[in-house]
Amino acid sequence: MKHPKSAGLFSRAKAVIPGGVNSPVRAFKSVGRDPVFIREAKGATITDVDGNEYIDYVGSWGPMILGHAHPEVIEAVERAARSGTSFGAPTELEVKIAELICRMLPSIEMVRMVNSGTEATMSAIRLARAFAGREKIIKFEGCYHGHSDSFLIKAGSGALTLGVPDSPGVPASLAAATLNARFNNIDSVSRLIEQNKNQIAAIIVEPVVGNMGCVPPYHGFLAQLREVSSRHNIVLIFDEVMTGFRVAAGGAQALYGVSPDLTTLGKIIGGGLPVGAYGGKKELMEMVAPIGPMYQAGTLSGNPLAMAAGYTTLRLLNENKKIYEHLEHMAAILDGGIAKNLTDAGLTCIQQRVGSMGTLFFADTPVRDFQSALNSDVKKYAAYFNAMLDHGVYLAPSQFEAGFISAAHTEGNIKQTIAANKTALEQVVKLSA
Ligand code: PMP
Repeated sequence: MKHPKSAGLFSRAKAVIPGGVNSPVRAFKSVGRDPVFIREAKGATITDVDGNEYIDYVGSWGPMILGHAHPEVIEAVERAARSGTSFGAPTELEVKIAELICRMLPSIEMVRMVNSGTEATMSAIRLARAFAGREKIIKFEGCYHGHSDSFLIKAGSGALTLGVPDSPGVPASLAAATLNARFNNIDSVSRLIEQNKNQIAAIIVEPVVGNMGCVPPYHGFLAQLREVSSRHNIVLIFDEVMTGFRVAAGGAQALYGVSPDLTTLGKIIGGGLPVGAYGGKKELMEMVAPIGPMYQAGTLSGNPLAMAAGYTTLRLLNENKKIYEHLEHMAAILDGGIAKNLTDAGLTCIQQRVGSMGTLFFADTPVRDFQSALNSDVKKYAAYFNAMLDHGVYLAPSQFEAGFISAAHTEGNIKQTIAANKTALEQVVKLSA
């Protein structure tokens, strides 16, 4: 595969955009090559500016659960655009999407739309602090909750990939209010609560972690978080920016049967347009301005184009639960194919998956937390990524990210991916021999 046009664009981009990209992991730095620039996408495939086609497992990092350029979503956005792109005033569609979210995730009694996952978590934490009258928060090492100051402490995703889990520029006083526990380890949470009696406002967690690669919660972990939060009057926040409408129509909270106080959403909720949301119990949400004193606002929040894409996506997911069966079916075939290829290649990798999100870890033992994620061989992953790209499969350019299957992925796509995977694994073995 050749990429002359991508190379040309990247060199122009680097002159005027930091690192040539508008979000760090896109630069492909950790896999040792230059990024491909995308021209268009349809269904399960994306095409770069040089005309190379790939089966896509990034799905814009999660939103594209229906596949790219889904006809009903595109039509809804076009229709909305013709009626005006922004009013800064309430619309019917905002009421409809809020009603639908509350129906699909019953722990949410009221919801506020924002423009990104980062805004959602930032606002949820402010609300939790306002409600609890306390300042400290507990998060988990390797979880990523967007790039606001309180969260860039031992953060996952690009911060982990690029080796900056603790970003400079975050005030030390704010960093001191963020405590890090170990995912899948309730004792580490209890210890922090004990050491900071009556000071913890919130526990925020990715109920299935996507941002150190896919790491499922161990049996009972989320229920233990629920119990300990309730006992100490701590607001429990599930950051379902990635898992919401992904691992099940009702998110991870439905899948594991644990109800948080607040939920943050993003990605799928915008159907590919910039949207986030936070919502939860009425007693908390009634603290949000203008009915309460916790201030949060947004010029483009509830934007009609974004609401049209988001509402149509959620409506289709809600009306057609078979989509989740299809996703599970495709993912299971892919898992089985990769498992066989690994055996044939004599490689021990760890496959971790919840529904249509999953990661192939180049590690010997299961990944259950940040420490065990770091045991992965990122050099092998880079070799694997490059071989897959050269064979027409577009994966996340980092070991510490989840991959996604969409409703548009066919059995043919999956078979092609398994064949590419076989060749790629053989190349990894050869390189590491
Ligand atoms: N929370 C989680 C769990 C995420 O995965 C992400 C983004 N990957 C965010 C928050 C931040 O969302 P955004 O990039 O839309 O700001």
